Amino acid sequence: MAGKKILVADDSREIRETLAQYVLRPAGYEVITAGDGVDALKSIREQTPDLVVADLQMPGLTGIQLKRALAIENNTTPVIIITAEGSESIASEATLAGVAGYLPKPIDPDVLLMAVRQALDSERLRRERALALQSLEKRVHQLETLQAVGRALTASLDIDQVLSRVVDAAVRLTGAEDGSLLLLDKHTGELTMRAARNFDDQFVRTFRIRTEDSLAGQVIRTGQPALFGANSPQKIKTAYLVHSLIYVPLRLHDKVIGVLGVDNRQTRRALSEADFGPLTALADYAAIAIENARLYAHTNAERSKLDTILQKTGEGVIVVDDSNRVVLINAAARAALNLPDTPVIGKPIPDVIHHADLRDLLTRPSSTQNRRAEIALDDNRVLNAHLTPIEGIGRAVVMQDITHLKQLDKIKSEFVTAVSHDLRSPLTAILGYVELMGRVGPINDQQKEFIRRVRISVNAITNLITDLLDLGRIEAGFDTQKEPANFPLVVRYSVEALAAKAEIKHQKLVVNLPETLPPVYANPVRLRQMASNLIENAIKYTPEGGTVSVSVFMDDDQQILTVTDTGIGILLADQPYIFDKFYRAKSVPDDITGTGLGLSIVKSIVENHNGRIWVDSKPGSGSTFVAVLPTHVESKAASPRG
Ligand code: ADP
Repeated sequence: MAGKKILVADDSREIRETLAQYVLRPAGYEVITAGDGVDALKSIREQTPDLVVADLQMPGLTGIQLKRALAIENNTTPVIIITAEGSESIASEATLAGVAGYLPKPIDPDVLLMAVRQALDSERLRRERALALQSLEKRVHQLETLQAVGRALTASLDIDQVLSRVVDAAVRLTGAEDGSLLLLDKHTGELTMRAARNFDDQFVRTFRIRTEDSLAGQVIRTGQPALFGANSPQKIKTAYLVHSLIYVPLRLHDKVIGVLGVDNRQTRRALSEADFGPLTALADYAAIAIENARLYAHTNAERSKLDTILQKTGEGVIVVDDSNRVVLINAAARAALNLPDTPVIGKPIPDVIHHADLRDLLTRPSSTQNRRAEIALDDNRVLNAHLTPIEGIGRAVVMQDITHLKQLDKIKSEFVTAVSHDLRSPLTAILGYVELMGRVGPINDQQKEFIRRVRISVNAITNLITDLLDLGRIEAGFDTQKEPANFPLVVRYSVEALAAKAEIKHQKLVVNLPETLPPVYANPVRLRQMASNLIENAIKYTPEGGTVSVSVFMDDDQQILTVTDTGIGILLADQPYIFDKFYRAKSVPDDITGTGLGLSIVKSIVENHNGRIWVDSKPGSGSTFVAVLPTHVESKAASPRG
C-alpha cells in the first residue's frame, strides 16, 4: 500500500500534522491535507487521492457530507471519519453514507493505520471486481455479436448480405469507425473490397491494391494479424489515411484468401491487439460464408448442367419415387407421350402417365425380374422402356425409340416366312423322291446309308421351316383365336406326349399338376406348343437318368408353369440370349441338335398371352424355366374352379 496518496482533512492543524508527520508518512504514504470540507472536496477532485481521512466536524462540509458529495459525483474514493464527539446515531449515519471507517479521537495510530489498510484493500478489490465485470460484459457482448453473425450465416445464402454483417459486427465489436473486407484476386494478385462500412460506394467499387507492398498483402503472405497504431496520420499502403488499423487474415483450408480490417480514420483512439480474437472469429465466419457460396454456386451449376443434359437427351427419361410420384420427366419423354406442358413433379403416376404398359412398368416392384417393356404409341412408334431402381430415389425408366428396328424385324420375318413357305414344296418333293428311290431298282448298302442321311437332313430342314413359319405366324399375331383354357390339362397332354422320350433316356418325370384351376384365356394349341418346347428341351439337355419336373400352380391371379431339370444348365453369359432366334449356347454338345428357335417360339407365345418367362439356371446342376400367365379375369370372378 506504500506510495498511496492520502488526504487528511481536519480543521485542527495540529491533528493534520500529527497524523501526516508521525503516523501516515512513516508508514510510507504520500499525504496531502485540507483545512475544511470545501477545500477537501476540491483537493479530491484535483489530486485524486486514494483515500481520505476526514474530521466529522469541519467548516464548509462535515466529513459525512463530504462522503455524500463524492457519492453524487460517482467518486468511490474511500473516506474514514474521525471524530471527538462520537455517538451511536452519528455512527449509524456515517455507515449509511458508506464511509470506510469510523474512528474516535484521540486517534490510536495503529488503529488508524489498520483502518487505512483495510479501506485501501477493499477499494482495490472493488476496483478489480468492477474491471472483471466490465471485461465479462464486453466478452458477453462479443459472443452475442458473433452468435448473431453465425445465425445470419446459416440462415442466408446471400453472400453480400452475410459479408456486410460481418464487417458491421467487426466495427461494432472493436468500436472502430470503419471496416472493410478485402479479397484476393488470384489472377491479378490484387486485393479488392468485397464489403465495407463507412466507405464511399464509388471508393469500394474501384478499390484495388497490390499485395506486394501493402499491409493487407503482408497479412496475406504471413497469415498473421497486423496492428498499425501510430498516433500521427500517415499514408500507409492502404490507399487512405488512418490513425489506427487492424487486419486479420481470412483463412480457408490453410490458405489466406483475404483480410478483414477495421480502422480509425478520424479519431486518434488506438485499436489494440485485444481485438484480434473477435476479429479472427468474424474472419472465420466470412471465410465459411464465401466457401458456402462457392459450393452452392458450384452445386447449382452442376445441377443445371445435369438438368440440361437430361432435358436435351434424345431418350425419354422418367423418374418416380418410392411412393409412385413423379420426380422428373424430360422433354423427350413428354414429347413421346404427348404430355401437356403442365407441372407434373410430385403428382401420382396414374395422374400423369396414361399409357397402361408404361404405367404398369413404372409401378412394378423393383424386385420384379422383367424390367423391360415395349411401349407401342398411338402414332405406331415403339419405345423400348427399361426400368432401373435408383437407391434412395425410386425408379427410373429410360425409353429408346426402336420403331425402325421393329420395322426391320418385321420385314425380316416376312421375308423368312415367304422363303420358308416356298422351300416347303421342293423339300416335300425331295423327300418323296428319296422314298421312291428304293422302289425303282436295287440299291447297295452305301446308297442306303446315303438315303438315310438325306432323309435326316431334309427332316431337320423341314423342322426348321416349320418352326420359322410358326414363329412368323405367332409374331404376326395370326393366333388371335383365344378361349378359356385349362392350363394344367394342356400341360398334362404335353407331358404325356413326351413321356416316351424321357423313358428312352431313363429319366424320371415328376409331374405336379392340379386337376382344376380357373382357366387362362389362351390359344390351347399354342399353349401346348409352349409347354412341349420347354419339356422337350429339359429332356434333351438332361443326361440319361436325370430328373425332369413339371408343375403348374396358382399364385394370386397368376398361373405359373415351372419346368425344372437336372441337366447341363446354362452359363450366365448365355442366359440373356437363349430366347433370341437361332441362339444356341456354345457349351451345347454337338450331338444335341436343334434349330435355336424353340425358346423364341415359347417367348412369343407367352408374350402373346400377356405373360412373362424367365430362366434360373446353374451350369452343371440344371435349369428351371418359369412361365407366368394371367388367369382369365371373367371366369375367375364367375367360377372358382374354372
Ligand atoms: P434349341 O433348338 O437349340 O434347343 P432353343 O431355342 O429351344 O433351341 O434353346 C436355345 C438354347 O438354350 C439351346 O441351344 C440351349 O443352349 C439352351 N437351352 C434351352 N433349354 C435348355 C435346358 N433345359 N437346359 C440347358 N440348356 C437349355
